[in-house]
Amino acid sequence: MVEQQVIWEEHGHPPEPKYKSPSRWKKPNGYPAMPGTGPEGETCKTCHYKTTKPGMAGRYLKCGLMYRHWTGGAATDIKAGSPACRNWASKRLLDAMEYYEEILRK
Ligand code: SF4
Repeated sequence: MVEQQVIWEEHGHPPEPKYKSPSRWKKPNGYPAMPGTGPEGETCKTCHYKTTKPGMAGRYLKCGLMYRHWTGGAATDIKAGSPACRNWASKRLLDAMEYYEEILRK
């Protein structure tokens, strides 16, 4: 314990836990797969499935693949900066494909 105290004094204390009470911690249920299992360097922000809950002023980011599990609370929210999960799909590529499909239909 004394050694740990010396290490903290030399290198700084570890950050305070975000949630002081474990009972207030909410398991993130909004991700269809573990964040970080997708392509390196990509995030939910660049994913085709990132969306917002309709009628909520666009403040609550959700993953469209988890639509059936959405709740009215933050437990199924996602963060735009989360590392991509293995279901990540390029927003730019799929948007471009939809655009060209629309042109071809006309
Ligand atoms: S990377 Fe895409 S599929 Fe995965 S959680 Fe984020 S928005 Fe959903």
